[in-house]
Amino acid sequence: MERDSGRTGLLGLLRASGAGNTRCADCGAPDPEWASYTLGVFICLNCSGIHRNLPEISRVKSLRLDFWEHDLVEFMKKHGNLCAKAIYEAEVPPFYYVPQSKDCLVLREQWIRAKYERKEFVATSISHDACTSGSREGFLWKRGRDSKQFLPRQFILSARDGVLKYYTKESKGPKAVISIKDLNAMFQTEKIQNSHGLQITYSEGGQTRNLFVYHESGKEIVDWFNAIRAARFHYLRTTFPTAPESELVPKITRSYFKEGYMEKTGPTDAFETGRVIIGSKEHGYEVRASLPRGVKGRRWKAGLTIVTPKREFVFACENDREQKEWMEALNEIISQPMTA
Ligand code: ZN
Repeated sequence: MERDSGRTGLLGLLRASGAGNTRCADCGAPDPEWASYTLGVFICLNCSGIHRNLPEISRVKSLRLDFWEHDLVEFMKKHGNLCAKAIYEAEVPPFYYVPQSKDCLVLREQWIRAKYERKEFVATSISHDACTSGSREGFLWKRGRDSKQFLPRQFILSARDGVLKYYTKESKGPKAVISIKDLNAMFQTEKIQNSHGLQITYSEGGQTRNLFVYHESGKEIVDWFNAIRAARFHYLRTTFPTAPESELVPKITRSYFKEGYMEKTGPTDAFETGRVIIGSKEHGYEVRASLPRGVKGRRWKAGLTIVTPKREFVFACENDREQKEWMEALNEIISQPMTA
């Protein structure tokens, strides 16, 4: 009987709205069925696996399968997700990437470790100024452009100077000086075939370039990612000083980025640059899931048209699924309001 009442009590607490317990405390996944009875948080199955690796800090039990002693139930009642958030997420800097359930493991694990193990965001900890946080120096394994072999390279990020530089052993000066202005970083673990793989994208002479890097330490690579985000945030804040923070944060890095091939079709003109600048809906940009009348894809039939104020760009996708994914990615960009 004791066992049943404990379980019902907990599940009742779980369902209680307003306590923040209807979603995982760490990744926001709905209906968490696990809990850390040392931290007093309700978490999902995936996050419970990460907590299990931190036995010094967190002990987990299943809400459904495990026995809950009376005092543990009382502890959970007194604590809960909102309470833990107030303590462990008191000072999460605006540029810090807070992962969701769909994000890769290294991001979710380092978020949990940063929160509970290193207590990086509890109140009265060191300040998270975007300028200082956006400066970093160290080695990353970088994939060679031609050899595809990973070699250690020294990287220097400076939010103050607005640049990311990297050096090869041989070169005296930096091998590349990359402006923070149009830099993007995103975890691409499958593509890079490394669970800590980070893709850094920038533009150089009108061309898109990629750096593929990783670090053996999950903490290092996530710290690099957030340092890049801090530098981007610093840049955005100084460039658009009047824009509210809520408008700048979604622009720090993009993860909806879609990469792949579409067949360019339709009329070509003298100003082919290989790039289509995409703006927001309010500025007359639009994406249509069709080809204009009279235009046919050469090899591929699933078309889409990007309408800009000046002209229309016509692309053909390999199949309907590709077309759908491109439409989603493009619509996400178009629906974002423009800052300047
Ligand atoms: Zn979770």
